[in-house]
Amino acid sequence: MRTPKKSLGQNFLTDPNTARKIVSCLCVLPGQKILEIGPGYGALTTHLVEQIADLYVLEKDPHLAGLLKSRYRSLNVICGDGLFFDWTRLERIGSWKVIGNLPYNIASPLIWDLVARAGTCSKMVFMIQKEVAQRIRAEPGSREYGAISVWVRNFARVTLEFFVGPRVFHPQPKVDSAVISLTPFTSEKRPNEEEKLSRLLRLCFQKRRKQMSTILRAHWSNSLEKWFEDQRLTSRIRPEGLSPEQFRDLSRIIF
Ligand code: SAM
Repeated sequence: MRTPKKSLGQNFLTDPNTARKIVSCLCVLPGQKILEIGPGYGALTTHLVEQIADLYVLEKDPHLAGLLKSRYRSLNVICGDGLFFDWTRLERIGSWKVIGNLPYNIASPLIWDLVARAGTCSKMVFMIQKEVAQRIRAEPGSREYGAISVWVRNFARVTLEFFVGPRVFHPQPKVDSAVISLTPFTSEKRPNEEEKLSRLLRLCFQKRRKQMSTILRAHWSNSLEKWFEDQRLTSRIRPEGLSPEQFRDLSRIIF
């Protein structure tokens, strides 16, 4: 094994039992198409390749992509960057699922992008930093609740599967990990003006200690006033007091 690259978040999973447990969360059925992000040396891939004929992997490190290609002849290896991948390309292959032990440094932006773009994805399973998992599933009013909690939960149902300690990785990370699964909503339940929602979240959570009336001063209108009344909310509420659904609703009125 080469020296793992810190810049690529290369903390490789060394425990086959944990790998098997992660793969089982995906509930793979025969004939399904799967994409794995960041396969590395294949800790998860090994368990997937046994069950899946249509398996795609997306790996940024060309050395690892080459190794996997030579080890598993049937594997569709894409050497590329998950942060710049056009997820809508996958719609052409129909319904699919995605899995990955994600590099910690890209997990949040990647999940943000993927959950909104992956219209035909039926399930995602990710191992990520525990703290990020807690932010994604945080409830309104809690310290961890923020833009990513609201965003992801407008597109998918989030389930915390289990926690993983640092010992099962090489090299060992300084933080704990968690495995989460996301079940994307059907198209009718997903925001259709996502750009508006993203704009509102940026606006609100950059100033999370401020009151909504202050944050939204430049956009204030009668319909906004009425919206707060209808929701039985005071406009002095802080962003963390609004639910994911309320943010979506509000984004349609404001912009
Ligand atoms: N799946 C392997 C495992 O469990 O042992 C490797 C996991 S390691 C935490 C993350 C993997 O993602 C590495 O193989 C790394 O090279 C790859 N990677 C890092 N940045 C990436 C990116 N932007 N796009 C795709 N793969 C990336």
